[in-house]
Amino acid sequence: VGLAVAFGVTACGSSEKTADKEAGASGGAGSLIGVTMPTKSSERWIADGNNVKAALEKLGYKVDLQYAENDIPTQVNQIENQITKGAKVLIIASIDGTAITTQLQEAADKHIPVIAYDRLIRNSPNVDYYATFDNYKVGVQQATSLLVGLGLKKEDGSDGTATGPFNIELFAGSPDDNNATFFFNGAMDTLKPYIDKGTLVVKSGQTDFKTVAILRWDPATAQKRMEDLITKTYNGGTKVQGVLSPYDGLSIGILSALKSAGYGTAGQAYPIVTGQDAEVASVKSIIAGEQYATIYKDTRKLADVTVKMTDAVLKGGQPEVNNTKDYDNGKKVVPSYLLEPVVVYKSNYKSVLVDSGYYTEDKLK
Ligand code: BGC
Repeated sequence: VGLAVAFGVTACGSSEKTADKEAGASGGAGSLIGVTMPTKSSERWIADGNNVKAALEKLGYKVDLQYAENDIPTQVNQIENQITKGAKVLIIASIDGTAITTQLQEAADKHIPVIAYDRLIRNSPNVDYYATFDNYKVGVQQATSLLVGLGLKKEDGSDGTATGPFNIELFAGSPDDNNATFFFNGAMDTLKPYIDKGTLVVKSGQTDFKTVAILRWDPATAQKRMEDLITKTYNGGTKVQGVLSPYDGLSIGILSALKSAGYGTAGQAYPIVTGQDAEVASVKSIIAGEQYATIYKDTRKLADVTVKMTDAVLKGGQPEVNNTKDYDNGKKVVPSYLLEPVVVYKSNYKSVLVDSGYYTEDKLK
């Protein structure tokens, strides 16, 4: 197989056919890999899809890459089609992590391994591996960046000099995305001691995951919820000083609601607003002093881990994992590889995002 792979990468014409033939028997180079991503409405998933596709193609695989614009039936159909087309592995970043059980059973019946990409697929025994970031840690980092922005902590992790109390509001991600709960739990475990002491006050009283969750991570829904909070909770001159936002797209919506209400002017600063994904618009916003922080998850590394897993399962090997306890999907604990997220502030965006080659400085202007 090793030879066939090497051959497949560089060969063309008749030699490529030879590689395909060998690969067909072994499920190696030339095999079709089905990749499904949730949406193109957020940059990160576009980068994820492109990175996974390029890395698989480099190894000689064929790739069917699909986006579903956050529509569950569309994603279900795409996975069905990939099974029909003879995909040898399915890499899935699910929209609703519980909605594809039937398709996964079909895949299992045909001995097609399934790798959950970034988001855990729930309620199915037919998920073989999971490649993601440490999602609980993402939540801890989001809350920590909020504390840093408010002056309750310093970037180096030591205590800050501020005493509060500060008014904050909480947002969570889509309830059908397993990650959203991990982010929220990590954040709440970090914020709770401050809330208990009264240093942080969630003035709306809305602290329950279900109440603050934003279906499908929709920026417009977050903007609307922030507008409602401003009219209902912050109508008597009291100001909101911090907003826990779990995703840059939501942060942009939240900031826009705040701007319409007069925040972000000389007399009234924006509250500290967190984020996730280091999307270009949000990094620009951080540089401009609007959004306070984001969480960088290097999608190149995630693609790399996933492609290595794919290659290993196709060659009958054991993919490398580093966590076999935290990701119970309701039917099994899925062997996982977790990558490290990094907090991005105005102070370190250059070293984290530009020096690593993730973005050019030009792209952030
Ligand atoms: C991902 C985040 C992303 C969110 C919205 C989550 O599953 O882990 O990186 O911000 O989806 O797309």
